[in-house]
Amino acid sequence: MTAAGGVAALEPGAEPFRLGVYPTPVERVLATPTDVELWVKRDDMTSPVYGGNKVRKLEYLLADARRRGASRIVTLGATGSHHVLATAVHGKLHGFTVAAVLVPQPRTEHVINNLRAGLAQGLDARPVSRWAFVPFALVRARSSHTLFVPPGGSNLVGSWGYVDAARELAVQVKAGLLPEPDIVVVTLGSGGTAAGLAAGLEAAGLKSRVRAVGVAEPPWAVRFVARRLHARLARALGLRAGREDRHARLSIDFRYLGAGYGHPTDAGRLAAEEARGFGLHVDPTYTSKTFAAALDIVRDAPAKTKVLYWHTLSSAPLTPLLTNAPDERALAQGLARLVGAREAEPPARRIW
Ligand SMILES: *Cc1c(COP(=O)(O)O)cnc(C)c1O
Repeated sequence: MTAAGGVAALEPGAEPFRLGVYPTPVERVLATPTDVELWVKRDDMTSPVYGGNKVRKLEYLLADARRRGASRIVTLGATGSHHVLATAVHGKLHGFTVAAVLVPQPRTEHVINNLRAGLAQGLDARPVSRWAFVPFALVRARSSHTLFVPPGGSNLVGSWGYVDAARELAVQVKAGLLPEPDIVVVTLGSGGTAAGLAAGLEAAGLKSRVRAVGVAEPPWAVRFVARRLHARLARALGLRAGREDRHARLSIDFRYLGAGYGHPTDAGRLAAEEARGFGLHVDPTYTSKTFAAALDIVRDAPAKTKVLYWHTLSSAPLTPLLTNAPDERALAQGLARLVGAREAEPPARRIW
């Protein structure tokens, strides 16, 4: 256990920017006759401009960029990456130029609109047709005063945003706004969210375990990255738990992935319908798969189990960000090819 005062000195980088509005609400959406409860942590509402889980990471990443004297961020992601869009939106608001190397992903309207919204924020988009070309494109996108931010913003600096988020939850538990969760269910993509929560919950003295639902590929690499981040964060926080306890704190479940990253599943479609009934909007790539897992956990849980689903998808309306966005038909050729991939094509066996 780490004293709250002792943690601050270990935090990486600079004082974080405040991009969002905190604490995000917690809501109970379901209770069964056996007192199993499903709660939601509304990180969809981190920002009214563009919310979701990337905002908390960017508070540390942008502060780090400023501290290092960088004025340009270079990052990468899939075509409709929420991380790329969040970086374009919040980076621009804080005076950074943002470039991103983009790789193809299955085409949906959501993906195309995310790309268009990013371009409307001045995103310098660098499309590549395959992952093998990414390193070359990254080098070309660099200029002076550039900070490279990894996929999903999931390095040690960015993940600190979710150590903070766990502390925020602990305060809400103490205030009696929700019961202490037995299990926190969250999406696992690039790993920073789940790893930050797992380390942060332990540091905050909560018993809650994290069930991370894998939606990116390949699973072995996603698992490796998440576990390594968790171990590094635990060390930085001075946590004593050994490897086995760490694995118990953060369990990883790939049973909801389906055909691959960005490919919808039937379980996800059903879960999305249920979510709608609770006033939640979930997406096919990330959160519908996780919500399906959360519903299964609730169904199979012993009496009195408290389940918290951590909602990571922005619920801010995209329309204001699409003002002056290029029409899909007006996309430059490289970008048009990026979103030209058909849904029926086999999934790329890659991570992000
Ligand atoms: C990026 C993202 C995730 C995954 O978070 P990681 O920290 O990359 O694991 C989950 N949900 C949504 C909606 C996201 O955009």
